[in-house]
Amino acid sequence: MPEELNLPWCFDDEHLAWQKTMAEFCQRVVAPGVVERDLRGELDPDLIGEVGRLGAFGLRVPEAYGGSGADLRSMCIAAEEFAVLDSSLAVTVHVQAISASLFHHLASEDLRAEYLPGMATGETFCAFGLTEPTGGSDAGNIGTRARRDGSDWVIDGAKQFITNTGTPFSKYVILFAAHDRDGSAPSGSRSPVSAFLVPLDAPGVTVGPKYPKMGWRSSDTHPLYFDGVRVPAHHLLGQEGRGYREALAFLTWARIPIAAMSAGLARGCLEATLEFVASRESFGQALSSYQAVAFGVADLSAMTDTARLLTYDAAWKYDTGRSIDREAAVSKLMASELANKVAYQATQLHGGYGFMDDSHVTRHYRDARILTIGEGTSEVQRMLIARGLGLPV
Ligand SMILES: Cc1cc2nc3c(=O)[nH]c(=O)nc-3n(C[C@H](O)[C@H](O)[C@H](O)COP(=O)(O)OP(=O)(O)OC[C@H]3O[C@@H](n4cnc5c(N)ncnc54)[C@H](O)[C@@H]3O)c2cc1C
Repeated sequence: MPEELNLPWCFDDEHLAWQKTMAEFCQRVVAPGVVERDLRGELDPDLIGEVGRLGAFGLRVPEAYGGSGADLRSMCIAAEEFAVLDSSLAVTVHVQAISASLFHHLASEDLRAEYLPGMATGETFCAFGLTEPTGGSDAGNIGTRARRDGSDWVIDGAKQFITNTGTPFSKYVILFAAHDRDGSAPSGSRSPVSAFLVPLDAPGVTVGPKYPKMGWRSSDTHPLYFDGVRVPAHHLLGQEGRGYREALAFLTWARIPIAAMSAGLARGCLEATLEFVASRESFGQALSSYQAVAFGVADLSAMTDTARLLTYDAAWKYDTGRSIDREAAVSKLMASELANKVAYQATQLHGGYGFMDDSHVTRHYRDARILTIGEGTSEVQRMLIARGLGLPV
């Protein structure tokens, strides 16, 4: 690995070895076909099998359940390396890895033993179903309803933009639904919200058609509909009425791999642009010999470093038991905004090639757009940072 990718204050030998493994894997397995996958807009099941054998889905699952129990820095290294080439794959892995980790956090020992090993290897995908058609930023305002009926919960409602729900591996969703304290369906809003493990093939579940998307095209995103879906009481995850709060508190760290994906995408833009400006001539000279061009590339490099530093500072703090409330929001906000700036500048430096759908920087440009939206928009991150500063927003 190039020396500039080492961050000696936070990477030990194991992190560096994992970084090397990831980079080699991506060159050997992910790079071939990345353009075609994106243009077709299809996830490649064989690629998912290879990623499963690499162990990327189970990084945050303890070894006892078939994962590797790795730290957050290792997860960020994987997210960064995938996103240098293929952000669609990076988010596919991210959603599965956080869902498996959340499932481990919330589920009973019996459920863990039954379901986690398949989730850790990626043989069974478990989606994360929070966002609703009425809005994702105000995530606690949940319209999907659950009511207790004998030994079952009965669920009605809809979820929107849910990743990993229509692949050959997609089997479950961790679903958030509101109910009243006595287990009846809520009459008003802001009722307690519980989390449930719902099989996607349960009667009453409909996986809607795949969304056509601007970016993350070869990741898989669908709406979900629930019509009188019955799940047994033991599929309730976490404490009754507290599943949403427990998930939210646990998943603060999940924004940091999105910052890592942003840093990886920025690196992908930088690497493609360095190659392009060295080989392309204009007015009889290599583009790279013009100071304006070289300064533009220098900015890409500086912005990429900034995104990486914020990401790994946050991950290191998490791994060493420090608070990350502020760092998770700051790293996600800044890295995703910088990735968009980098992608804009990289496409500009590519001229007309930066507008062609099959060029690497064009794919990165399209993929960058969601980074300031998914896993909490930039506005939501600013809200969290402002609240941390004591501002009444
Ligand atoms: C490809 C893709 C994959 C996704 N995968 C998943 C998934 O697997 N699981 C899942 O649960 N969700 C998923 N999502 C949903 C994603 O998390 C939401 O889209 C995101 O949280 C934003 O919610 P929204 O789209 O409803 O926008 P809204 O919440 O409607 O926001 C619209 C705009 O208003 C702004 N806004 C809202 N409230 C405020 C405020 N108070 N102050 C200032 N600005 C405000 C927002 O920042 C945004 O700019 C995915 C989305 C996409 C596009």
